[in-house]
Amino acid sequence: MTVNRRNLLIGGASALALAGVSALGYMGVRPSRKQAPGVSRAEKVNASNTNPSEVDVAIIGGGIVGIMAAMYLKQKGQNVVVLEKGVVAGEQSSRAFGWVSSLGDEARRLGLAAPSGAVWRGINEKLGVDTTYRQNGLMYECKDDASIAFWEQWAKDHPEQGGDSVQILRGDALAARLPGGVADSWHAAVLQPLDGSVEPPAGLPRITNALIAQGLHVVEGCAVRGIETAAGAVSAVVTEMGTIKCKSVVVAGGAWARLFMQNLGIDMPLLRVYSYMMRLPEFANAPLGSGWGAGTPWRKEVGGTYSVGLPANIAPMLLDNLKFAPTFYESLKQNWSKFELDPTREFYESLFAQTSWRNDQVSPFEHERILAPDPKYVETKDALHKFQAAFPQAKVAPIDQWGGVIDITPDNAPIIEKVAQIPGLVFAAGMSGHGLSMAPAAGELIAQLVLNETQTIVDPKDYSSARF
Ligand SMILES: Cc1cc2nc3c(=O)[nH]c(=O)nc-3n(C[C@H](O)[C@H](O)[C@H](O)COP(=O)(O)OP(=O)(O)OC[C@H]3O[C@@H](n4cnc5c(N)ncnc54)[C@H](O)[C@@H]3O)c2cc1C
Repeated sequence: MTVNRRNLLIGGASALALAGVSALGYMGVRPSRKQAPGVSRAEKVNASNTNPSEVDVAIIGGGIVGIMAAMYLKQKGQNVVVLEKGVVAGEQSSRAFGWVSSLGDEARRLGLAAPSGAVWRGINEKLGVDTTYRQNGLMYECKDDASIAFWEQWAKDHPEQGGDSVQILRGDALAARLPGGVADSWHAAVLQPLDGSVEPPAGLPRITNALIAQGLHVVEGCAVRGIETAAGAVSAVVTEMGTIKCKSVVVAGGAWARLFMQNLGIDMPLLRVYSYMMRLPEFANAPLGSGWGAGTPWRKEVGGTYSVGLPANIAPMLLDNLKFAPTFYESLKQNWSKFELDPTREFYESLFAQTSWRNDQVSPFEHERILAPDPKYVETKDALHKFQAAFPQAKVAPIDQWGGVIDITPDNAPIIEKVAQIPGLVFAAGMSGHGLSMAPAAGELIAQLVLNETQTIVDPKDYSSARF
């Protein structure tokens, strides 16, 4: 990775200086936003509370990435267990906005999001359940002709990855997607009708239950502390409930994946950023599908209620975030993130956070079963004002607000790779706020890497951490 000595020195020195100065203010610091204990938003899954003694593949993390990897590995005849420290979909995968999209993605994300879109479009039929996925389109406002030209070019550049379906909407076609109109009339919009959405608290749990009914073994409340190796290669995972022999381990731990690897002595370039969401009650003449315009993203939910998100993710002040700020500067900009300069209690906690432990010791994963930050209300209020200024018909009070922690990489595309130092270990994290959209193809790639297949859905080189 391009964390060079100079950046590390600058970042490290600023972190220490800030830590020293800020420590003086510890007593008056804002409290942590993390709920303790974290409360799940996800529908319940019929998981097990007992471990198998031996499997082919152990997957760490019951988020969308871990479960999709399990689905493909099962299809390939592997004996798989998914180990989740909290509850399935307790973290990002139930806290997301719910867009299943590829419109505007750059090449790496698009490589996974385009084939994933096709899987999502068939998932209700494939699994025989209503996962809440709907193909209801994603639209972005185009403020001027330059913006239209940008989208026309994007469509031309990716004809087979959805570009052929992209439409520029004006006049009546635009009005049909915005039944109540908008306060300022829009110049135009770009629509990807192939894109869709899923209700995050329901989607992954329903997919998981369908797979459990087909024989997938999923264990909840089971943190993985580490791995064991024989002759340098994976031979077992060590969990808080005992050891499971296995040939391969997949690390699909989302916002915890960096910490898991740190304990193995491997530094993965991932940062945590926060995002907050709110739900509005149903209102008349709501804009259709999902979209972004007038400064906020929105999504009409399956039941008629409405989600509104923040225009920017928030990079909290944490030790890693300060240390790697120079490396992640571009990524945070592209990811619409902004740095938060007033520390919460999590900042002080991050200064002293445990980054190594033995397999017979309680690990940090057991201290925080569900990572669930409360929303920062000043940010959600601001997003709501923007949305209501554009859509006056939405003058209703939110009925729910929540937050989530997102793991991002320096280029906002995931790291999915066989870990060179430990044969049998596959790493898959850093979905960078797009994991719902990319998970099916990511899961297929993970399965192909685990099984050392030479024909893969995308070129694994593009997703290796060696690119940093
Ligand atoms: C507010 C918000 C909005 C978002 N909006 C969208 C969107 O609209 N579209 C989109 O595509 N994506 C969106 N995302 C991103 C998407 O939710 C994530 O990219 C995706 O859910 C990541 O899936 P995952 O499986 O990698 O991680 P997670 O869903 O976080 O799952 C990882 C799991 O691993 C478990 N775990 C970690 N370590 C261990 C361990 N040692 N032992 C056992 N279990 C462990 C955790 O408990 C967790 O349940 C959003 C995210 C947030 C927070």
